[in-house]
Amino acid sequence: MKYEAVIGLEVHTQVRSSSKMFCSCANEFGAEPNTNVCPVCMGYPGVLPVPNKEAIYATVKAGLLTGCTIAKFSKFDRKNYFYPDMPKNYQISQFDLPFCTNGVIHLSGTGFSGEPLPDKDVGITRIHLEEDVAKLTHFHHDSGVDYNRAGVPLMEIVGEPDLRSADEAYAYLCSLKEIMRFGEISDCDMEKGQMRCDVNISLRPEGQKEFGTKIELKNLNSFRAVHRAIEYEIDRQAELLDRGETLRQETRGWNDDRGESYLMRTKESAHDYRYFPEPDLMPVTFTDEEIEAIRATLPELPEAKRQRFCREYGLTAYDAGVLTADKSLAAYFDRAAKLVKTPKQAANWIITSLLALTGEAGIQVNDSPVTPETLATLINAIDSGKINGKIAKDVFAEMFDTGKDADTVINEKGLAQVSDSSAISGAVAEVLGQFPKQLAEYRDGNGKILQFFVGQVMKLTKGKANPGMVVAELKKQLGE
Ligand code: ADP
Ligand code: ZN
Ligand code: MG
Repeated sequence: MKYEAVIGLEVHTQVRSSSKMFCSCANEFGAEPNTNVCPVCMGYPGVLPVPNKEAIYATVKAGLLTGCTIAKFSKFDRKNYFYPDMPKNYQISQFDLPFCTNGVIHLSGTGFSGEPLPDKDVGITRIHLEEDVAKLTHFHHDSGVDYNRAGVPLMEIVGEPDLRSADEAYAYLCSLKEIMRFGEISDCDMEKGQMRCDVNISLRPEGQKEFGTKIELKNLNSFRAVHRAIEYEIDRQAELLDRGETLRQETRGWNDDRGESYLMRTKESAHDYRYFPEPDLMPVTFTDEEIEAIRATLPELPEAKRQRFCREYGLTAYDAGVLTADKSLAAYFDRAAKLVKTPKQAANWIITSLLALTGEAGIQVNDSPVTPETLATLINAIDSGKINGKIAKDVFAEMFDTGKDADTVINEKGLAQVSDSSAISGAVAEVLGQFPKQLAEYRDGNGKILQFFVGQVMKLTKGKANPGMVVAELKKQLGE
């Protein structure tokens, strides 16, 4: 039987903030274990949490960037459970009144192996804010607990079951990460555990409207693992369904080394968290004005930027995609593009020359010796006919080495294009006199020889002659 996969993701991302969610401990990755701790995040009795405004604003920002409705009244709740990663025996989270609901993420990306996917909107059910738990590390005979992570602000983004393939899930994660990074909400570095993903997946016979039984997959710690796990799980479930088995709702883990999922628990053993409103915290309220003030701080998202780059600057979708892959690269191009008459040329120089040199030098475009301003001087020198494209490559390399602008390099090295007609006609006459054999061939009707003469004139003028003028002068002296 042919099945359609139905997939919904639950993504946790750590909010970038200076301090933890309910105490003043640093929110810092990589510190010596159990050094960023205090009585609040260690769950001592008698202490009170104080909510982190920065993290709440970041969550609202994430909601606005994904088109969510922002709750004017929301609250925190206690999620009760007993486990060493949570010293209080409850996690402060949000249950029925999250900060953000009903959003959408637009997919316009590529699948895992790079092939483009059709555009698609994926619903966001909710985004809520909670505190992260301690990190457990299991050694040979014992386990370690690092409470530095306990209490770090953590957003949960629950997606609608709108995804239909491993590639769509991959593209969704890429879009989400892009939004979080452009919004400066989270760095989403999976290796640092700043972004973690649970996958819910079910199959239904093609054409059927009702969803099948969903399986939740946990412990997916890379986009690649998410993609692999979904493909594996689609095959596994299809095989069971083909054998006529009924699936039970269960939670499975993913073993990336073995490339298989394994049973963790069934629905019968699911936790009952006994949520109730957090009595130590006031509900959180927002006025329309406050929400609008946060909206005013939103950055332009990559998707909108790509469209604007194509519309305003005439870029191809491909170029726009490359230039928006990174926020600072996009800003670099945007600045340069505004300073020149031919933004498309700015895009070409950045993509082919600048990224190659910064890549070689192992630096970010922001730290490039060629700034958007000096790049613009180069492009303007080309556009005004001061130098030709070939010389421009040398000028660019020199600019990258020295940090000088194009005009300085051109003057210092005497690279300005020769547009002086007497100099060009002299060079043309010299070349025609130098190659009588080729001249005879040309006169016999071999038109291709013209390019040879152009090349020789350029060589004679060390590449500086204005190529248009050379061609015109050649034709003139050849009697055309
Ligand atoms: P639960 O109550 O088990 O947490 P939810 O309805 O809250 O389930 O959904 C959790 C996640 O599972 C969401 O991301 C949602 O999109 C996804 N989901 C829900 N039903 C299905 C299904 N039948 N198949 C695949 N994913 C599903
Ligand atoms: Zn603390
Ligand atoms: Mg749920």
